[in-house]
Amino acid sequence: MTANVKKIHIPGTLSKKEKKLRDSFLLQVKNIPGGESLKKCIQCGTCTGACPVSYMMDITPREVIALFRAGDIESILSSRTIWICASCYACTVRCPQGVMVTDILYALKRLAIENKIFPKRFPFFALSESSIVWARVM
Ligand code: SF4
Ligand code: SF4
Repeated sequence: MTANVKKIHIPGTLSKKEKKLRDSFLLQVKNIPGGESLKKCIQCGTCTGACPVSYMMDITPREVIALFRAGDIESILSSRTIWICASCYACTVRCPQGVMVTDILYALKRLAIENKIFPKRFPFFALSESSIVWARVM
């Protein structure tokens, strides 16, 4: 993991900001068909192995789920990963636990836009604008 992971919280001691992010994220996950599969992740790393662009990510798909569990959504939103994801669904198709990895990354992207949390030195403005346009079209 090469991302600048800011802090690892002990569950139950989340900051106000992290708690707000977590609540919004869990609400979005609830609306994803099969979203509750997130709980079933066994950290096997198959998603990362299947991802054609993981070599460009600062946090791998497996690590995204590990950071969520560790109570550090802010670090995920500050990473390039959610913007680099090409939405190819290879991770989701290969996951042995049926975790909806791609849709979870979409939810995190929406959360980043809503909370204006973006990675530094990355053309996220163009990407977030195109995501908003796509969200409106869909
Ligand atoms: S492939 Fe599925 S179970 Fe394995 S680390 Fe990725 S999300 Fe978790
Ligand atoms: S959907 Fe995104 S994270 Fe999953 S394999 Fe494709 S590019 Fe990688």
